[in-house]
Amino acid sequence: MNIMANQPRRLESYVGGTWVAGAREGVPLLDASTGVPVAFIDSSGIDFKQILAYGRDKGGPVLRRMSFHERAAMLKALGQALLERKEEFYALSTATGATRADSWVDIEGGIGTLLSYASKGRRELPNTRVLLDGDVEQLSKDKSFSAQHILSPLQGVAVHINAFNFPCWGMLEKVAPTLLAGVPAIVKPASQTAYLTELMVRRIIETGLLPEGALQLVCGSVGDLLDHVEGQDVMTFTGSAATGQRLKTHRAIIENSVRFTMEADSLNAAVLGLDAAPSTEEFDLFVKEVAREMTVKAGQKCTAIRRVIAPRSYSEALIAALNDRLGKTAIGNPADETVRMGPLASLAQREEVRVRIRDLAADAEIVGGDPDNPHVMSGDASAGAFLNPVLLYCDKPGSARAIHDVEAFGPVSTVMPYDTAEEAVDLTRRGKGSLVASVFTNDPHFAEEVVLGLAPFHGRVMIGNRLSAKSSTGHGSPLPGLVHGGPGRAGGGEELGGMRGVKHYMQRTAIQGAPTMLTAVTGRWMDGADTRRDSEHPFRKSLAELKIGDQLVTATRTVTLDDIEHFAHFTGDTFYAHMDEEAAKANPFFEGRVAHGYLIVSFAAGLFVDPAPGPVLANYGVDNLRFLTPVNPGDTLKVQLTCKEINPRINAEHGEVRWDCKVTNQLDAVVAQYDVLTMVAKRRE
Ligand code: NDP
Repeated sequence: MNIMANQPRRLESYVGGTWVAGAREGVPLLDASTGVPVAFIDSSGIDFKQILAYGRDKGGPVLRRMSFHERAAMLKALGQALLERKEEFYALSTATGATRADSWVDIEGGIGTLLSYASKGRRELPNTRVLLDGDVEQLSKDKSFSAQHILSPLQGVAVHINAFNFPCWGMLEKVAPTLLAGVPAIVKPASQTAYLTELMVRRIIETGLLPEGALQLVCGSVGDLLDHVEGQDVMTFTGSAATGQRLKTHRAIIENSVRFTMEADSLNAAVLGLDAAPSTEEFDLFVKEVAREMTVKAGQKCTAIRRVIAPRSYSEALIAALNDRLGKTAIGNPADETVRMGPLASLAQREEVRVRIRDLAADAEIVGGDPDNPHVMSGDASAGAFLNPVLLYCDKPGSARAIHDVEAFGPVSTVMPYDTAEEAVDLTRRGKGSLVASVFTNDPHFAEEVVLGLAPFHGRVMIGNRLSAKSSTGHGSPLPGLVHGGPGRAGGGEELGGMRGVKHYMQRTAIQGAPTMLTAVTGRWMDGADTRRDSEHPFRKSLAELKIGDQLVTATRTVTLDDIEHFAHFTGDTFYAHMDEEAAKANPFFEGRVAHGYLIVSFAAGLFVDPAPGPVLANYGVDNLRFLTPVNPGDTLKVQLTCKEINPRINAEHGEVRWDCKVTNQLDAVVAQYDVLTMVAKRRE
């Protein structure tokens, strides 16, 4: 289907494996700049109970049969396919009021998040269907009863109710971790900009990369869907606190303990340091950042800076600098490439922001921008939802309420002065929990005091200064690897954060039992489980032949004083504990000269390695290395090497093998323990 912004069309939902239009003509959605209809939206006639069942019964089982790496490969292919179609998304995005730069955040930022999850999934997750969480808990002295926490995908559907401001990113940042976890999704975009989400979902479905039922789309109201959510389902919500709270307290959500992640209003703050006087680099960076956050997406960003907290003596200079910069912002129809700030998403949204500005004006005076008379350089000022950036100033922020309570979701910020670092922290916290705060300072002590004061009230805190100016991703950018969410008013939810985001769609379960049983369930060998020793060295076995629990017990080697001295002089590590008997004895941990830890590791390799070319291709590191008992001259070492975990790669002729390595002395005391990580060929040459 060819989709043009200038041909209004009835949006369709993708449910139950087909595209369906609502039973009614639908509500018109207007271009934010011109007021011309772009699309009509309606979802009446959809059986919402049925689409939940379709996701659970059709999409879920297929996704769960795939491994993490297979799902990651699917996301990568999808991201690449969407990138090829990106210009089509940009063309339609203009109707939402977004400039090219705004759309980049939404479209390429969204696809980038998908690709980032694909790559993290392949690098950070095993090629299995179950995730292990934490270490083995030994529950008996004789190692016959242990426990391991695992994470497995929930068997319901994730319902994502999204906001109007990021029709692409808002969907993809949630769908990526959902699908990687192995859970199907139903996306409900906010009506105002749903036409762009609908276009992207069309292109996603056309790729044929997703299993049927993995992704469904509802354009319009979700009807009675919430009545049918169950305990294995997950809901996420982004939007206003009022709607979020209504949904969160829905009967079915409460009765079925449905996981509910909410991201709502957030009065994010930026703090200018006491050291960051006018004409310092930090002052200039701060002005640039605040102005950028006010104007990107016309301030319709959940992370935008709403409260500007600055030393009292710099406030006047700050307001002048901000007004100077904001006054140069070219406002108009983003179809004109010279425009730097487009309109708000709709006239209704602009009216809402104007009302909020009037609320803020109870505490603060407008010191820049006229909310009622937009200066538009291109487009029809009366047809579009244009609004100038509006800067307010509140002289007594400690006793004011509205400036810490009211979120004007547009290009609006309030400057508020402070005198001490403690006061800056206090003012910031009055936002009652936010997604992000930033602190601009070149003083490490100020950074420490303020950041630690803010951290419990925020999901993310960014420190800006001259050292990171060139590489900083900025105050307003949620990143796939970092937590996005915030406590309190911000909704109390958490999204992204790398693999943390994936785990939101999985159930953590403590599995208890004998180690052999736990090894069978988890796919990872653990101490006390069955082992297998045969005549063939495990390093001679390819991935096809190797089994978890395959074990080698080596010959022994006695460590001599000559070995220690040789190693010391050869490596240059002549630390006294290895070289000076008297000094070593004075050390509370040793009874005399001891072998280097790295000498033990080297001797261990010498004992367990099979030298001939074979399936083992490389050693790429060790994990969790601990030296547990000192080794003195005369001690005799032995190694027990056990195949702990096998991870074949899906797109290569090799995979990773993790070996449990235990080095013991002549008394069977463990002197060193670690995991050896190797690359092993899938088949023998
Ligand atoms: P809403 O809370 O009205 O809508 C958010 C989402 O919820 C939309 O998809 C909406 O769908 C849906 N929704 C609304 N009512 C229901 C319901 N009864 N059942 C199920 N879904 C429902 O927020 P808006 O998008 O209108 O934005 C309003 C304000 O929210 C903004 O002015 C801003 O203050 C805040 N906001 C905050 C964001 C943040 O991330 N912090 C992001 C966006 C907005 P539909 O559009 O079809 O009504």
